[in-house]
Formats: sequence, C-alpha cells, structure tokens
Amino acid sequence: PVRLRVAPSPTGDPHVGTAYMSLFNLAFARQQGGQFLLRIEDTDRARFRADSEKQVFDMLRWLGLNWDEGPDIGGPVGPYRQSERLDTYRPYVKKLLKSGHAYRCWCSPERLTQMREAQQKNKLPTGYDRLCHGKTEDERRELPGFSETPVVRMLIPDDVSLTFTDLIRGEVNAPRPDDQVILKADGFPTYHLAVVVDDHEMKVTHVVRGEEWISSTPKHLLLYKWLGIDAPQFAHMPLLRNADKSKISKRKNPAARLTWFVEEGYLPEALVNFLALLAYPPAQDAEGNDVEKFGFADFARDFAWSKVNPVGPIFDLKKLEWLNGVYIRELALGDFTSRLLPYLERADVLSGNPSLGELGRLKDVAALIQTRISLLKEAAPLVAPFFIADDQLVIQDDARAGLGDDAGEVLDKAIEVLGNIDDHLASLVGGTDWNAANLEGHLRAGIVDGLGKKARVAFGPIRTAVSGARISPPLFESMEILGKTSTLARLHALRA
Ligand code: ATP
Ligand code: GLU
Repeated sequence: PVRLRVAPSPTGDPHVGTAYMSLFNLAFARQQGGQFLLRIEDTDRARFRADSEKQVFDMLRWLGLNWDEGPDIGGPVGPYRQSERLDTYRPYVKKLLKSGHAYRCWCSPERLTQMREAQQKNKLPTGYDRLCHGKTEDERRELPGFSETPVVRMLIPDDVSLTFTDLIRGEVNAPRPDDQVILKADGFPTYHLAVVVDDHEMKVTHVVRGEEWISSTPKHLLLYKWLGIDAPQFAHMPLLRNADKSKISKRKNPAARLTWFVEEGYLPEALVNFLALLAYPPAQDAEGNDVEKFGFADFARDFAWSKVNPVGPIFDLKKLEWLNGVYIRELALGDFTSRLLPYLERADVLSGNPSLGELGRLKDVAALIQTRISLLKEAAPLVAPFFIADDQLVIQDDARAGLGDDAGEVLDKAIEVLGNIDDHLASLVGGTDWNAANLEGHLRAGIVDGLGKKARVAFGPIRTAVSGARISPPLFESMEILGKTSTLARLHALRA
C-alpha cells in the first residue's frame, strides 16, 4: 500500500502551505487505500517554537485532514518527532563516513563566512571549498578557522545526477549542490539526512512537497544510492503565489497563517475545496460543465497526479470568499447557528454558554443573515442588536448622520402605528399580530400612504432605531424577533 506523509517544521503559526501539502498527500493516500503520516521535523532548534506543534494538530484536524500515524497518536514506525530519533540517524552517518561519501568538517562559522565573501567578491561559484576534505583533525587544527565541534558533509561527486522524474512535472533538472552538511555541530541531523532516513524507515512510498525542495532532491537521491535503499517517488507541488507571482509568505500575507482563516470565519470545508482548486481542475457535471464546489471525498475519488497543474496558482482570496458564501448558504440552519457561536462569543455578543432562550432567538436571527454574509465573523455586528439591552443600543455615527429631516415625524408615526398592534397570542396556529407581514403592512399604510413618505425615508429612521446601524437584517423580520416592547423602547429612545 502507498504511504504518504506531511512533515511540517514547528517554527511558528502553521502555514497554509502545510494544509495544502497535507490535502494532496491525503487525497492520494485515501484514493489508493494507503496511509497518511504526520511527522514533526524539529531539527532546527534555532527556529523551534514549543506551541507550534499543537497548532499544527489543531489546524489540520479543524480542516478534517486527519492522519493515520503521528506524534500524538503513535504508530508502528515511531517516534514521529525527529528530535526523538537522534539515535536512528547515527548509524547512517557512520556508514556514510566509513564509505567515504561523507567527511568531517571543522571549519568555524567565521571561516565559512569569509570563504563565501571571498567567493562572491571574486565572482567564483559559491559553495564549500573542501578545505577539510581528506584531512585528519590534527592536520586541520594547524590551519586557521578551526572549530572543536565538527559537522559532517556529503562529498558530492562530479558526476552527480541532476535529473529526476517527478509525478507532476515529468523530467526535472535541478542545480548542482555543494557539499551539504548532514550532521550539525549540535549533534542534530540536517533536514537532508533526517528526511531521507525517516522516509525510508517510515516506509514512505511517495514524497509530495513544495517545489522549493526540487533543488534538494538530487542530494536526497544520492543519499538513497549511497545507503543502498530504494528511493520513493516524488511530486513537487506548485507554490501558492501573489498576483505579482511572488510566493505567499507569512511575513507578507496574513492569509499564509492557517489561524487567520479561523479568525475570519472561513468554513474548513470551503478552505479545503479552495486549496484543491488551486492546483487541480474543477470537477465536471453530467453535461460537462465545471463544478467548482466539491468535497474531499469527491476530490480523492478521482485524484490523479497527471491533472495537477505545475504552474504556481494565484492565491485569490476573493474566490475563496465567494466559495465560503456558497458553503454558508448551504448549511442547515442549526449547523450554521452553532458555527456562529465562537464568533459571537469572541465579539462579546453572547457568552460562551448561552441560554436556551438566547439560542432560540439566535436561530431566528441566523435565518435572516445566512444569505447575507460570506464570512462567519461578519455575523457579529448584525446579530449584536438582538442581544443588547434596549438602553445599551449604540446608534452608530453614520446612521445618526443619515437620519434626515423627516425622522422625527416618521418615528412618531411608527410609535403610534406599532403601539396599536396587538402582540398577544391570538391562537396557537395563527401566532400574534406582531409579525413581519403585519408590521410592514401597518407601517406602510401609516407612513408611506398616510404621510406620503417614500419607503426609504419612511423605514431608514426605524431601522436606525431598532438596530443602531444603516445596514441590518431585514427590518420587519428583525422587529418581529425583537418584539413589541423592545421595538417601541428603541423608537422612543431615538426620538428622545
Ligand atoms: P514564510 O512563509 O514567511 O517563509 P516560514 O518560513 O514559516 O514562513 P516555510 O518554513 O518556508 O515557511 O514553509 C512552511 C511550509 O509551508 C513548508 O512545507 C512549505 O513547503 C510550505 N510553503 C511555504 N510557502 C508556501 C507557498 N507559497 N505555497 C505553498 N506552500 C508553501
Ligand atoms: N520540513 C519540511 C517543510 O516543512 C518538509 C519538506 C518535505 O516534505 O520533504 O517543508
């Protein structure tokens, strides 16, 4: 069976690229009935961040990109954290030293910097100059720039093969590497050694990763050859790009952080769909039309590497926002309502533990806004007026400024008309007279017909009074939900 993995480095907020790589790895693993592993590549101790690993778990789980083996759930070929595998790498280093494919290097960081600067100044190719190659420790000690703690480097041969076959790109050419470090002075392997040893020991059959690793693949293939082990197949995914073709990065793009999508109120299923579409063509319906909305199961079912577009896709957030709106509108009302809760809690609209009454009211409000938002966080300002005490409602500046000369007259009439509408339960089937259709009918009769005001002039001040804003959910439905007492209190408050 196939075995694929994603191998993030815990260096900060999880990158959207980690989700994107996971998705394509997982799709192929599921389609083939194989396994998907999560491995934490924490060999870079300088960039290590302790809270990052848990964020990776949380974000991938949020997206439903679940792994079969990993540091938190274990598995037959663990441990799944590289920092816990140092003993695993040692014999491999020994073997490479013994066979002469690797050598110790005692050059100090200062010496390497000087070497690099001299190479650049003289327009020579940059790369390690092999000062230490073929020397014993004592011989090297006689020369300048010696460090007590050596590293181990690969001895890249002149005839290193620089081409390999990629599942997405076909025949690929990579640049010539210099003598790469495989074991650092701190005793940790570098990425290059650790990734080869772990992919081998974890029986990974397909390595699917970002295109920035293309230049590393010849080094990895050399290690496989020297160690006498079979190499996996490779697929290098196109990196996600800005409109100017620069790659998206956490330094420049807030949307490169997965947590950003949670904060904004994207649905995980919309983000997964979007990430798939970035490098994969839309599905087709029976008539051959493009279908851009599809779920993970559909994606995985027909997945083929030959369909992955190798050209760096533009990370078009407008498209994602549109898709998110489509997903939001298709949620069942109860589901939509519960997904709003964390956003309402964060915005202090509701507590983390709302009462049944509040939940009932929220569901009524949710039905009014479901077609009107494309991000869950947009719900908070629309929902807030329904959960605030009447005397706490703040009239926003732009709404107050837009009231106009007729506002007083309109509000007086509204108070009179609405005061006459009975909100008592007339019959269990019929409900009360305080319902949206009745409210609209009476207000139109009183203000539009009675006072001769245009609808905009008639209802603008009422909207401002009940919601505090110029933009709100539909007015009459909102008043129905608020009830007679609140509605009248708010009209009086604005009139005062
Ligand atoms: P930055 O984005 O600022 O470079 P970083 O240094 O934390 O942040 P990397 O460590 O380079 O990010 O990448 C983390 C993971 O995300 C890697 O697996 C990498 O392949 C992937 N990745 C990085 N940039 C992109 C991109 N533009 N598109 C897709 N995947 C990316
Ligand atoms: N740790 C590397 C990364 O975060 C893994 C690259 C690979 O998949 O080989 O990009």
